[in-house]
Amino acid sequence: MDRRSFLRISLIASLGYVLMGCSGRDGNPPTAPAAKPDPAVPESLDGLLAFRKGDSHYDEHRGGFNLRFQKHPAVIVLCRSTEEVATAVRYALQEGLPVSVKSGGHCFEGFSSNDGGMVVDVSLMNTVDWLPGSEGAVRIGPGLTLTGMYDQLLPRGRIVPAGSCGSVAISGLTLGGGYGLFSRQMGLACDSLTAVTLVDGSGKICTTDDDPELLWACRGGGNGNFGVVTSLSFKTHAAPKGLFSHRFKAYKLDSARAARLLRGWCELATDLPRTSFSAFVLNGTTLTILVTDTENTDAGLASVLAELGKLTDKGIPGSRQELAPALRRYYGIDHPILFKNASAGFYSGYADISDVFPSVAQTVAENRGMIFQVNTLGGAVADPQLERASAFPHRSFPFLAELQTYYDKPEQGPGLLESFRKVQGLLRDGGVTRHYRNYPDLDFENWAEAYYSLNYKRLQRVKAARDPRGLFSYAQGVRP
Ligand SMILES: Cc1cc2nc3c(=O)[nH]c(=O)nc-3n(C[C@H](O)[C@H](O)[C@H](O)COP(=O)(O)OP(=O)(O)OC[C@H]3O[C@@H](n4cnc5c(N)ncnc54)[C@H](O)[C@@H]3O)c2cc1C
Repeated sequence: MDRRSFLRISLIASLGYVLMGCSGRDGNPPTAPAAKPDPAVPESLDGLLAFRKGDSHYDEHRGGFNLRFQKHPAVIVLCRSTEEVATAVRYALQEGLPVSVKSGGHCFEGFSSNDGGMVVDVSLMNTVDWLPGSEGAVRIGPGLTLTGMYDQLLPRGRIVPAGSCGSVAISGLTLGGGYGLFSRQMGLACDSLTAVTLVDGSGKICTTDDDPELLWACRGGGNGNFGVVTSLSFKTHAAPKGLFSHRFKAYKLDSARAARLLRGWCELATDLPRTSFSAFVLNGTTLTILVTDTENTDAGLASVLAELGKLTDKGIPGSRQELAPALRRYYGIDHPILFKNASAGFYSGYADISDVFPSVAQTVAENRGMIFQVNTLGGAVADPQLERASAFPHRSFPFLAELQTYYDKPEQGPGLLESFRKVQGLLRDGGVTRHYRNYPDLDFENWAEAYYSLNYKRLQRVKAARDPRGLFSYAQGVRP
C-alpha cells in the first residue's frame, strides 16, 4: 500500500473503526447504481431486474465493499418491493437455487453473495415513511444507507442510534445488533426495532406483528438467516443537537506501554457518562483515543479527559459541532477496498486479555496496515430488559474489540492474513470466546456460541419455522 493511501486509511481507522466508512467522496450520500432492465432477463423472472453471468450489468451488481471476495452468483435480482422479493424467492425455490441477501454489501466475510445461487439485492428499497399515530416512528426500506437515514431523520430532530459508516445499510447493521456513537445513550439499533416484514424460505410474506419470536430473533440474530427483511420499523429518539470529539495521541509505543495505556483507558472508560462513546485505536505503534460526547457537561467526563491527557503524549480537545456535519466527518471512504476485519472479542475489562495483549500489540506494531481497536459499549446497551427482548447476547460486556487489516495489492494478503490469524489465535488461547455477529470471521470455530451464546438454540427454532429447507444458507448461518 503506498504511503498516501495507507495514511488515508490510517487516518480513517484512527478515528475508530466504528467511524470508518464509505460515503460519497464529496460527502454526499452514495447513490445506488442505476439499474436498467437487461435484455437477457429470463422469462420466469419477467418484470424483475435480474442479471446473469454475461449480462451487461452483471458485474456492476456482483461485488461488495470488500474486494477480497469475488463471487459469481447464477442470478442477481434487484428487487423494488416486497412482492418482487417474494417472486424472486419462489423462483429460487423452483430452480433449486440457494439464496443470499444483500443490502449494503459490507459483510466482512462476503455472506451476502454466493457462487452459483441467487442474490436478492434490496439496495433499491430505501425509502423512509413516517408512521402516522405514533410520534417519530418510521418504516425504513432495508437498503437505506446510514447516510440516507441520517439525512432524512436529523432534519426532523430524530435519530435511530446506528453506526457511522455512511454506506453500511440499515438492515445488515440492525439485524446483527448495530452499535455506534449513541449506543450507550439509546441502546443498539436493534433495540429501537419495533417490527419487520420478511419474505421467508417458502416465499411467504409475513410480519412480526403476528410473530413476536421473529422480532426477537431479528434483533441481533437476523442476518440472512430466516428470509429477506423487506421493511424495518423503528421508534426514533430525540437527536442530540451537537457532538464533541476529543482526541488523544501516544507515539512510538512498545508493547509494555501499549498495555499500560489499554489498562488505563479501560479503567477510565467505565467512568464515562452515557452521553459518551470512546475508542482505543492502536495503529502500528501509534495510539489514538477518541472520546465523543453529545453534551460535554458531565464532571465525570471532565475528569476522564484530564486523566487521559496525563496518560498520553498529546491531547486535542474537541469543540462543539452540529450533529449532521459531525457525523459526516466519520462517513469515511466510498469505494471498495481490500481488507480483513473481524471481531476480536467482547471484554469485561483489561484483565480479560492482560496475558496476551503485549504479544498482540507486538504483532500489530510489526504489521503495517494492522489495527487493534477497542470500543465502548455499556450504558443503555446493558439494560436487562433489552437483553430479554433481543437475540443479542453480549450486553454485560462494556468493551468490544476489533482487529483490522488493510492492504491494496492482493499479493500483500497472505502475509497479513497470517499475522491476523496469529493475533486471533493469541486472543482465543487467552480465553476470548464471545464475538460480534456483524464482525464475523470464518476462522471462528465455535461461531454459533461466539455470536449467539445460549440464544442459538432459540434462533434455530425460528429458523426451523421460517426456513426449514435452509434456502437461506451460508457458512455461519443459523441451521434449522
Ligand atoms: C466500513 C464498515 C464500517 C462499519 N461500521 C459499523 C458500525 O459503526 N457499527 C456496527 O455495528 N457495525 C459496523 N460495521 C459492520 C456492519 O454492521 C456489518 O458489516 C453489516 O452486516 C453490514 O450490513 P450491509 O447491509 O451493509 O451488508 P450486507 O453484506 O449486504 O449484509 C450483511 C449481512 O446481513 C444480511 N442481510 C443484509 N440485508 C438483509 C435483509 N434485508 N434481510 C435479511 N438479511 C440481510 C446479509 O445476508 C449478510 O449476512 C461496519 C462494516 C464496515 C465494512
